[in-house]
Formats: sequence, structure tokens, C-alpha cells
Amino acid sequence: MRKKILAGNWKMNLNNYEANNLAKEILVNSQKKEKIDIVLIPSYIYLSNVVSLCVNRPDIFVGSQDCSAYASGAYTSEVSANMLRNIGVKYVLLGHSERRSYSFETNEKILQKIHQVINNKMNVIFCCGESIDHRNENKHFDWIEKQIKETIFYLSAEEIKNVIIAYEPIWAIGTGNTATSSQAQEMHAFIRNLIKSKYGEFIAKSISILYGGSCNPSNAHDLFSKNDIDGGLIGGASLKSDDFIQILASFK
Ligand code: PEP
Repeated sequence: MRKKILAGNWKMNLNNYEANNLAKEILVNSQKKEKIDIVLIPSYIYLSNVVSLCVNRPDIFVGSQDCSAYASGAYTSEVSANMLRNIGVKYVLLGHSERRSYSFETNEKILQKIHQVINNKMNVIFCCGESIDHRNENKHFDWIEKQIKETIFYLSAEEIKNVIIAYEPIWAIGTGNTATSSQAQEMHAFIRNLIKSKYGEFIAKSISILYGGSCNPSNAHDLFSKNDIDGGLIGGASLKSDDFIQILASFK
């Protein structure tokens, strides 16, 4: 059956020493659990260090917060998917709402990046999520459907196997306003049905769908106990090893 996944998006936080310490504390305090993968997602410049720290833990993977939409060439400051793969990165986070809003990433650009990641045999953590206005206007299902149809629906059945979906309502990210477990379950079931309509039941049942948005040790168990919620993409609470480890212990 599908994998349970706990991913920590460290965003633009931590100095070198702190990033090393956080990775070490997570390594020491987590035990390898069958069927649960951990993905640590530090800033680009810490990736190599974190990869080497995790080398003896087959259940802990390292992810990048972004990659270039291009394969190589004159794109100053950008980091290609191939470079990431070369240093041992296994996951790339794409479509995060902070990239969509601060860096104006469109679905089209995100799709280009998705192709880069898949062509380089890594996994995509694809984020989608609606604004509070969309939800209040009852347009949240349409919005998520559009985000999915304009991106991952362009992948073949073989390619989509390398995608993990993270449902992250924008109004819940970093705000403390977590979606209720029923709101999250409702959207996760909707997303799984969408996947089923395009790729069939087997793929729909195999794809992991994570929840993200103010997930913490006190609400994780309730969220993770829902049928279609396969884990979490954690921002703020992934920066404290105690919180992250407690969230890890919340899987049913
Ligand atoms: C995120 O940014 O992906 C996220 C889920 O953040 P937070 O947990 O802080 O809401």
C-alpha cells in the first residue's frame, strides 16, 4: 500500500550549525519505522551536509525546496535537477504557495520543473492549496482541480508514480489555523478521486497525499488518522526536533 511520509520544510531558516544539529537530533531521536519515510528539506546550501548525515538511514531522505525549470546553461543562480540528483537529493518540493506568490510561479512553470525532476529520477512533492477567499466563495474544489489539471495531469501513468501530493490550504500555512481533519479529509478524498478519474483506481490508491498547514504535535494524530491523509508537510514545527519527533509518533 501507499507510503506514509513526514516531510519537514525548513524554508529559509537556520544557520549552518543549527541545520546540522537539527538533522542530527532527528536522526538520534527517530527510529526507523516500517512504512514511514522522513524527508528533510533544508535550504540548498545545507543539502550536501544533510545528505551525508543521513547516509546510514534508508528511511530518511533529503529534499530540495526548489529546482530550475531548465536542464543546464546560462541561468545564473539557478540549481538544476541534475545537480541535486548528483549530490544525493531524492525529493524536490514544487508548487509551494510561497513560490507561487513571492516568485510568481505559474502552473506552467511548475510543470516545467516537474518534468526536470522526473527526468532526473527524483520524486516531486507537489503542493496545491486554495486561498481563504476561494474557500469562502466555495470555489476551493475548482481551484485545486485546476492546479492539478494544469500540472501533474500532463504526466504519464508511469511518471505520476514519482509524485507525492501535498494539500496545503494557504490560509493554514504558518497561521496556526489548521484545517479541521474533516476539511482536510474531504479535500484529500476529492484529490484522490481526481487522480482516479485520470489514472485509475490502482494509481489513486497508491499515491501519497500529505496535509500541510500549521500541523503540530497536538493536531497531527487527528489529521493522520483520516483515511486519505498519508502524512504531513510540516513547516514551523519541523524546525524543533522535539515537535517533529512527536508528530512522527502521531501516525495511527
Ligand atoms: C509549509 O509552508 O509547507 C507549511 C506547512 O508551513 P507551516 O507548517 O508552518 O504552516
